[in-house]
This record gives sequence, C-alpha cells and structure tokens, in this order.
Amino acid sequence: MNVFRIPGTVAAIIFDLDNTLYTNSDYIASQHESPVRRLAETRGCSFDEMDAEIRAFRKSWTAARGETISLANTLAAFGISLEETIRWREELCHPEQFLSADRELVRTLEALSARSALGIYTNNPVSVARKTLSVLGAESFFPVIVGLDTCAVSKPAREPLLRAAALLGAEPETCVSVGDRYDLDIALPLSLGMGGILVDGAADVYRLPFVLDGAP
Ligand SMILES: [Mg+2]
Repeated sequence: MNVFRIPGTVAAIIFDLDNTLYTNSDYIASQHESPVRRLAETRGCSFDEMDAEIRAFRKSWTAARGETISLANTLAAFGISLEETIRWREELCHPEQFLSADRELVRTLEALSARSALGIYTNNPVSVARKTLSVLGAESFFPVIVGLDTCAVSKPAREPLLRAAALLGAEPETCVSVGDRYDLDIALPLSLGMGGILVDGAADVYRLPFVLDGAP
C-alpha cells in the first residue's frame, strides 16, 4: 500500500474494482486474454501473435510516455471501438467462475460505509461491475457505480471520475481514490485535489479503516 494523500475530511471513497476489491490473478488474466482472443479471431491470426502485438504496443506506449495505457484504449488503437469493447466485456467477463463471497471485504465495507459514501469507478461496464460486486457479496455498499459505458471513455479520464464524486454528493477535495494502478487510478485524482491510495489487492483494502484513522 502506498498512501499518497488523505484529505482531512473523507466524504467519499471511490474504489477501482478489479485487482482492488478482490485479488485473483486467473480472473485478471482472463480479462486480458479473452478480448485479445476475440481480436485475434476478427483478424484471422493466432492468439499468441495478437497477444505479442498488444503487449509490444503497450510496452512502447509506456516507454514513450512514462505511463501505462488501459486495455480499452489499446483495443481502440487496434480499431476496436469503445462500444465494441463494452459488448465484448459484457459477453466475456464471468466473475462468478473465479470469485466468491468475501466476508472480510464485507466487514471492511461496513466500517467504511459508516463514515464515508462509497462508489466504484471501473473500466469495466457497469453491468459487469454489478455482477462482480454481487459475487463478492458487496453490491449493497455501492450506491454509485461509474463504468466504461457511463461516459463512454476509458481511464484515466476526468469526466467519469468527477461524475462519481458528484453522484456521491462529495466535493473532489473530500474524495479518496483507491486503486491498484497508479497511472490509471491515482495520478488523475491527485491532480484534481483528491486523496489517493495505491493498493495491492484486497488484503490492503482490509486495512483501510485503520489507515484512514492514521495508522501507519
Ligand atoms: Mg484495477
């Protein structure tokens, strides 16, 4: 965990979902592999060829700009519209095959929701996020879910992040963004005056109630 900033008053916590509220490397891998496999089918090449091309593109992007690029924006560079990416994810993401109810997460969210409004800002479509939260047993804690289809733009982007804050009724400077990728989940919130906490999966999220109380 890396705590970049915590506001004096935390009115709202905006969570990334994947690899933040759960830790499951197989599901994370499938969310990369299944759309790349679909792209390979549309291009008539092998998965391995397509995967290598995608990885090379993302690597060169990072080398040139010093930051990572989302898979949705990568697919856009390969000619796949955001609308098509959303359809693929709705069809190909099956969290119920990988995840299950997480009682420790529920206990954590009970504690956090008693003090702050909780929202989700994810690069998956809202329907996939709802399904994922439902499998984790955590859907009831999140009155606000902003997804790839909410503003039709991929992370990092100001509009969906500020939309999440507004829907939670919180000024940006009273929000904290929690996520597992600095370039996509933390850098932009910090630039907008929000707090930011970089986590390495669910085990770090379990510690948040204590961290927000000032524990090291
Ligand atoms: Mg994530």
